Amino acid sequence: MNGPFNVLASILPSSIELPDVLPYLLAILGLTLIWKFHDMLVKAGRIQTKDFWERSGVRVFLFATPPDSCIACRAANNFAYSPGVVMSNKFSPLQRSCQNNPNCLYVLVGLYGGWTEAGQLLVRLKQEGGTMWVVDGELKALLEKASTARAGISADRLSLRMLEALRSEESNPSAAIEHYRAIIDHAGEDRDLHLVVPAFIRLSVLLQKAGQKDEARSAVERCLTEYGPKKKGPDAPTDSQRALLTKRLAALKA
Ligand SMILES: [Zn+2]
Repeated sequence: MNGPFNVLASILPSSIELPDVLPYLLAILGLTLIWKFHDMLVKAGRIQTKDFWERSGVRVFLFATPPDSCIACRAANNFAYSPGVVMSNKFSPLQRSCQNNPNCLYVLVGLYGGWTEAGQLLVRLKQEGGTMWVVDGELKALLEKASTARAGISADRLSLRMLEALRSEESNPSAAIEHYRAIIDHAGEDRDLHLVVPAFIRLSVLLQKAGQKDEARSAVERCLTEYGPKKKGPDAPTDSQRALLTKRLAALKA
């Protein structure tokens, strides 16, 4: 018998006999409690996100913001991070606090990077210790190469659409709208699902800017219906995304 079990036996009256299976039952109880604790952490979103991204196959994250974000968010745009850096407890993509511009919304776009140029980026990212800034022209070239790559691109299809959409909102809003709609309609893989709520939000912003207020409101309403408070999983809106959607809906109804 183990130590704690001997202590337990010593404080009980000698007339009580402890069954031999008691240590096993205690062990099972212990495991159950550990599992329950794990479950609580998962429900709190702490373990789920980390486990999920570790399984996702993503090898690089790119921080991307829409053009109408605050200066602090824009300054963090185009930074690349290795999954290890993003998963660390201390990770924050912003060097300075977000100024809570109503349009601030950022996405960490995950790429598997199975095509040649992305592979070169991955090598450099490793050399730089897992964090590096990608010059805008370089990212543009990377996305152009991705659009003509024949192999290794399929896993990144919707992530690349997200990066393209955020970059083209001002120069080519109709192309950006098409990208956001494609993300909403085609995201099915777990690793793409977290792009859906940001795509709904930016779609509604662009539709409103284009004078299509009713369509903009419908996009927000659809998002709030499909991603209600009970929604769990990688595509569940964050608190700030939900607040943004609610605020946008109120403004679009005014
Ligand atoms: Zn901001």
